[in-house]
Amino acid sequence: MLTVKAYAATSATEPLAPTTIERRDLGPHDVLIDIRYSGICHSDIHTARSEWGPTTYPIVVGHEIAGVVREVGPEVTKFTAGDRVGVGCMVDSCRECDNCRKGLEQYCLNGNIGTYGGFDRDGQPTQGGYAQAIVVTEDFVLRIPDGIELDAAAPLLCAGITTYSPLRHWNAGPGSRVAVIGMGGLGHMAVKLAHAMGAEVTVLSQSLKKREDGLRLGADHYHATSDEETFTKLAGSFDLIINTVSAKIDLDAYLRLLAVDGTLVNVGAPEDPLSVHAFSLIPARRSFAGSMIGGIAETQEMLDFCAERGIGAEIEVIPAEKINQAYERVLASDVRYRFVIDASTF
Ligand code: NAP
Ligand code: ZN
Ligand code: ZN
Repeated sequence: MLTVKAYAATSATEPLAPTTIERRDLGPHDVLIDIRYSGICHSDIHTARSEWGPTTYPIVVGHEIAGVVREVGPEVTKFTAGDRVGVGCMVDSCRECDNCRKGLEQYCLNGNIGTYGGFDRDGQPTQGGYAQAIVVTEDFVLRIPDGIELDAAAPLLCAGITTYSPLRHWNAGPGSRVAVIGMGGLGHMAVKLAHAMGAEVTVLSQSLKKREDGLRLGADHYHATSDEETFTKLAGSFDLIINTVSAKIDLDAYLRLLAVDGTLVNVGAPEDPLSVHAFSLIPARRSFAGSMIGGIAETQEMLDFCAERGIGAEIEVIPAEKINQAYERVLASDVRYRFVIDASTF
């Protein structure tokens, strides 16, 4: 066993604090990764604060992991020491069900094994990326291409793939009109990726405070949802809307912005249930959908796509001691646009 420094949540209300955790000995197919950077996803906050149901404490969250391979097990074929690698939201799945066979491990019928808050094959609780190192089976380790710096790559492992997957699934591209609700960690990646895919991109943010940034990142249009005119002006004008908001919003108002056959995909995962009026969907054959991260092959495809186009996340690198402050800033929508923890400071 390897003892590593980490930051853990010990209850829903206490600040995260330094601790140590054990990583398992290397199995034949395992990869030991020295973590260099770990992104702060809003899901970490929902989990640390038991907003999605009771969390088992202590928990080390973090599922946007970028680092370098230190050592590999004897039967590992895909990686060697020194490789630049990443780990996202899953560390394993059953690999046998219909969904796993299709490369949709995130929808494993037996439940994928979360990077934190799950139970690994050895029965031990999984602990995530706010730590110096992690051991992961090679099939759930991603290769980070040379074209992306490790700090800017970390958020791609969750924020990147969570927006790339629905953009691809619902065919964002030339001629399609895509709107992104909320320009935080996921939202700013959705803007960059949809723009890179050739779509016409609109940001729907609470205010115009981040307008300059949105346009610089690739948005063609930027509107404040605090302005009621936004909802009349843009009625019926989008083919695809990606909702990245971490809180409950008035979905009916946004559904009316969809054109005929348009789809609103919810990736935001608020604590409280969302409601939809049937008459927001019926008059224009609209769809309301959800999407969760992406499969392993698709995550690699996304990383390669980003490297070819020079896309990384917009980040603010912080030392571990600033995690709790960063949480407060994320909650205040004051993130530009992803906090990334320097793992040398754990
Ligand atoms: P984030 O950085 O906090 O971004 C959320 C953005 O939503 C904020 O920056 C803000 O943008 C907007 N917003 C926040 N509160 C709002 C409110 N009350 N009303 C309207 N807009 C509001 O969070 P994130 O890390 O991108 O994660 C977003 C959500 O996606 C979280 O719920 C997270 O758990 C979930 N998630 C889901 C998946 C998945 O697989 N489906 C994966 C990762 C994360 P503006 O300031 O521009 O309005
Ligand atoms: Zn996440
Ligand atoms: Zn499965």
